[in-house]
Amino acid sequence: MAMMFPSFGEKKQKMQVYTIEECQNCHDKVKRPFQQGDYVYKEAGECQKCHGKKMITMVFGEEPQGKQQQAKSEQKAPPQSKQ
Ligand SMILES: [Zn+2]
Repeated sequence: MAMMFPSFGEKKQKMQVYTIEECQNCHDKVKRPFQQGDYVYKEAGECQKCHGKKMITMVFGEEPQGKQQQAKSEQKAPPQSKQ
């Protein structure tokens, strides 16, 4: 899985930022929306599965869903027949 790390501030597009919490005990990963004050290696509370300590292991931005590239066929000029 190739992961892109967008540089924040470079694009002014609205990016949804997510936080990955990982349990240090069972390595269960939870993806949740970024909250203010989140940073990597911050303690993220208790694991719901094993009650181990969770830690934030990743913070990343992702483009909102539903924004798909549309192939525009309009740009292709139709073949012109010379008169
Ligand atoms: Zn756990």
